[in-house]
Amino acid sequence: MEIAGFSGAVLQPGDEGFETARRIWNGDVDRKPAVIAGCTGPADVLAAVRFARERDLPIAIRGGGHAVAGHAMCDGGLVVDLSAMTGVRVDPLRRTARAQGGCLWRHVDRESQAFGLAVTGGIVTHTGIGGLTLGGGIGHLMRRFGLTVDSLVSCDVVTADGRFLVAGAEEHPDLFWALRGGGGNFGVVTSFEYRLHGLGPTVLAGVLAWPMDEAGAVLRFLRDFVADAPDEVGIMVNLRLAPPLPVYPEELHGRPIVALVVCYAGPVDEGEEVLRPLRTFRTPALDGVAPKPYLAHQAVFDPAFPHGRHYYWKSWKLPPLTDPAIDVLVEHAAAVTSPLSTIGVFTLGGAVARVDDDATAFTGRTAAHDINVVAAWLPDDPKSERHRAWARTAWAALRPFAQGVYVNFLSDEPAQHVQAAYGNRTYARLAALKSEYDPSNVFRFNSNIAPAD
Ligand SMILES: Cc1cc2nc3c(=O)[nH]c(=O)nc-3n(C[C@H](O)[C@H](O)[C@H](O)COP(=O)(O)OP(=O)(O)OC[C@H]3O[C@@H](n4cnc5c(N)ncnc54)[C@H](O)[C@@H]3O)c2cc1C
Repeated sequence: MEIAGFSGAVLQPGDEGFETARRIWNGDVDRKPAVIAGCTGPADVLAAVRFARERDLPIAIRGGGHAVAGHAMCDGGLVVDLSAMTGVRVDPLRRTARAQGGCLWRHVDRESQAFGLAVTGGIVTHTGIGGLTLGGGIGHLMRRFGLTVDSLVSCDVVTADGRFLVAGAEEHPDLFWALRGGGGNFGVVTSFEYRLHGLGPTVLAGVLAWPMDEAGAVLRFLRDFVADAPDEVGIMVNLRLAPPLPVYPEELHGRPIVALVVCYAGPVDEGEEVLRPLRTFRTPALDGVAPKPYLAHQAVFDPAFPHGRHYYWKSWKLPPLTDPAIDVLVEHAAAVTSPLSTIGVFTLGGAVARVDDDATAFTGRTAAHDINVVAAWLPDDPKSERHRAWARTAWAALRPFAQGVYVNFLSDEPAQHVQAAYGNRTYARLAALKSEYDPSNVFRFNSNIAPAD
């Protein structure tokens, strides 16, 4: 098959490389597109979108391929595959980075840190900047520098009707608003321009861990600690069986633990002072907090979430943790059915909460936490249903405490869940913009926003 004006690799079923190209992070997803168009730049993206439109082929966009629901692939359609578009150019004078739409976080972090700069990115380096940014973007640095979208300066976008637009505060500001939280609904972003911030390259960061039977006390301490912690404190909780990774001492491997993953986004000596109470309020089984390159901290959890395992997750945003919410979290973490599953609790607040909720399409900035119940198992595990049921049960038990949900942590959910994630007002504004920029819902393999009537 030939795509007019296309210079990248075009793959169809049966072609060498097709089977590899259709694989994404979640091994549970098995979709077979008619064509995978491996784009090398915006010209290829324009050609691929026009080609698909002329043939009425549905279009999926593949960034880093991490969406748990498998939105990067579709059955029978055309995939605009951006995974070869990983160029990054940092301008150290203006403190900006221009990153192509198929970059992973490791590409952006590496180039930015060469100049002692950074932007809030995901906590696993093989996650794509595309989906993560377009959904909002939470990570270790967010309390200091805001969500990823709060540092977004502009996007280059190929729209459903085959136009190339630059969206920013001055040009197409409505589209720019929608791209900051509205996901891949509005076009193919061929590059993102970020404002960068001074960081490191050495930060005080690492993992503190206690046995799971201390989880209640740890979470209660955390609640009080974060209530008035400075913005520099990035902190998340991990409840799981300690994996056999170098970050955990061997005696903890396989044992249920509560871990705090901390990153102080400021001077190391200041961080030593601020983080001391966390490290001393009760003796941890592991204190891995030490000065280290930010790049090393970013990569610490890469091996815990490898490509090809089967994953299923359910999520909520939560207000500050109450005692009953902590009890529910701990109870369900202790009932985990797979050594690969985990409950992660991000801590928001700080700079995230200071941006007006209407400033971007990301909804729910006043939530204190984002929790993700991640069920994971090996492809040949016969108990997959048990692992899914564990995630669903924990999620249902947390519902009474919920304060919305982060779109990037949604699974393949019914339309009303997507609508609820945005709330009525933001969803209505997104739907109106969808009908302007993509009235036929060409880009629908995402947490979909249906065009307004
Ligand atoms: C291991 C792991 C760790 C994670 N950690 C974090 C985290 O720390 N913080 C956080 O906020 N989220 C995190 N996430 C969630 C993550 O934000 C979403 O999974 C996100 O969709 C990943 O983006 P992607 O480009 O890799 O995925 P893809 O599956 O390629 O894309 C996701 C969606 O975005 C669209 N899309 C992707 N790129 C583009 C583009 N350039 N233009 C237009 N549309 C595009 C796709 O069509 C699809 O609908 C994590 C996910 C995983 C699997």
